[in-house]
Amino acid sequence: MGRVDKGLQPFRGATLAAHVHARLAPQVTTVAINANRNLPQYQAIAGDGPVLADFLDGFAGPLAGLQVGLEYCPTELLLTVPCDSPFFPADLAERLQAALAAEGADLAMAVTMERDDADPAAAPYRQPHPVFSLIKASVLPQLQAYLATDARRMEGFFKTLRVAEVLFDDATAFSNINTLEELQRHERSAAAGPASAPSAVGAGGQRVDHDAAALPVDEAQRLICARIGAVDASETLPLLSALDRVLAADIISPINVPAYDNSAMDGYALRGADLPAEGASVTLNTIGIAYAGRPFTQAPRPGECVRVMTGAAMPPGCDSVLPQELAAAIDGDQVTIAHDAIRAGANLRRAGEDLKAGGVAIAAGKLLRPADLGLVASLGIGEVSVKRKLKVAFFSTGDELRSLGETLEPGCVYDSNRYTLFGMLTRLGCEAIDLGVVRDDPTALKAALSAAAGQADAIITSGGVSEGAADYTRDIMAMLGDVAFWKLAMRPGRPLAFGQVRTERDSAWLFGLPGNPVAVMVSFYLFARPALLRMMGAAQATLPTVQARAAEAMRKRPGRTEYQRGIVSTGADGVAQVRLTGAQGSGILSSMTEANCIVVLHHAQGNVSAGQMVEVLLFDGLT
Ligand code: AMP
Ligand code: MG
Repeated sequence: MGRVDKGLQPFRGATLAAHVHARLAPQVTTVAINANRNLPQYQAIAGDGPVLADFLDGFAGPLAGLQVGLEYCPTELLLTVPCDSPFFPADLAERLQAALAAEGADLAMAVTMERDDADPAAAPYRQPHPVFSLIKASVLPQLQAYLATDARRMEGFFKTLRVAEVLFDDATAFSNINTLEELQRHERSAAAGPASAPSAVGAGGQRVDHDAAALPVDEAQRLICARIGAVDASETLPLLSALDRVLAADIISPINVPAYDNSAMDGYALRGADLPAEGASVTLNTIGIAYAGRPFTQAPRPGECVRVMTGAAMPPGCDSVLPQELAAAIDGDQVTIAHDAIRAGANLRRAGEDLKAGGVAIAAGKLLRPADLGLVASLGIGEVSVKRKLKVAFFSTGDELRSLGETLEPGCVYDSNRYTLFGMLTRLGCEAIDLGVVRDDPTALKAALSAAAGQADAIITSGGVSEGAADYTRDIMAMLGDVAFWKLAMRPGRPLAFGQVRTERDSAWLFGLPGNPVAVMVSFYLFARPALLRMMGAAQATLPTVQARAAEAMRKRPGRTEYQRGIVSTGADGVAQVRLTGAQGSGILSSMTEANCIVVLHHAQGNVSAGQMVEVLLFDGLT
């Protein structure tokens, strides 16, 4: 699951790791958790038991975990199970221990008999499950010796031990959860209960229907982002072409910025030692002028100073600048300074105070904005390595849709979603590939999805994903890939399809957005935008929010997140305040054009009364 921490994924009302912990606890004396991140969350699961991080540098494989486990192990035997296999047998420890003792082995391992799915006629084969093992704590020196040879493979280490294999009947008991679909499938089948199992399962590319409780927004976001990774390809571009692209490699500063100590003001450069004592004043003699780009290279002697312009290199020996307007008197070359005018070191920009040579000026993953272009230029760098532009194909679905220029017959509407999507994708820096309007017809939809997968990294569709829609979008999407259809606990934008569309040669991520124009925008910003940014390689994908005072009461039902269109302004007391744009129907696009923000009313939140603070998502951040 990529960068997602599998053990902490929600599963049947808790996390996967909590389930594994609960199943393990009755079988052993102590449960220790091996984790290398999110340690506080794991500690909450471990209770009194320890949470142990690897100490084998740069290697997170199973042997690293085994090493810490054996080091810690307070008992004679150590049982290992992975955090993503919540179904292992309740008698695992007992049966492994019996075999270990009977065979005088160092290690007892679970095995099952399995069949080749591709060749059901073939004889079953023996499948070892080395991560489900009971091991003598006394083998630690052997493991240390093995690791010292730089070997890291579990199988290799096991070859150095006497191993007892224990055959378990139920192969599925050792299955782990590898993909988010699997996790969702298990999660949903449990939620739906035995009486109403999910209608189908995605393994063969069929539809996955989730009739159970609607999925909260943040969970859907997490599930999507966990599956998606950044595109690999990058290209080198001239700086002026790199605006809004994602930096592919760190920009290392080749120089100090500024490159030399220089004056921050127009005034007089002097030696701090010449500044007057408390209550006194001093008059210095000006011996020359330093301009930006034209240094004055002679060091002033005690009692002397140099006239300097902003940005001019500090003359040798000078460490302070008196701004000209702070001089007590100027008479020809004579400058008089009062005791409290400046402190030594004032108004000096030190070499390297902005950036140090050799340091990271901008880290990879930064979406390049105007300030970034300027910073790169200030380093004398004219080309940058950026991630390649993401290609996103989009089309609208619906028999009722007419394109611009066509006659609007009764019962038809102009297709507006393609225009909104074009705008949102373009502002995000994607190459937007417009595939037009596709009729609610299986052949047309199939052709459009295949064509889209053939030329794009991601596909965005609108319409046809709600339950009971009289069209074929869902069936075709499900047929062409592994697509999940979610009912989300949100408004607007309840239905959402997400998954991967595959053809023989290509694949692309699919975001099937709802049809209603406001729902399209809201679901694009919440689900497609962060995922696309991730694909673009951007390190930052969250939208900036601020708190504003509700200028009016807002109706809100707990149990779903509501996104209402608002206008934020500054109240008389200087505090941000927000009012709604009126009718909030998910088809009312004018509510979006009038709005300058979206009010986010959270899942658990109820009605909001006037004066209460609410979270607001500013449109200005939505590029
Ligand atoms: P659907 O999800 O396909 O049932 O569509 C829901 C609603 O959104 C219907 O009223 C559609 O007419 C409308 N709709 C769907 N796609 C578009 C579009 N591209 N432009 C404008 N309205 C649309
Ligand atoms: Mg439709």
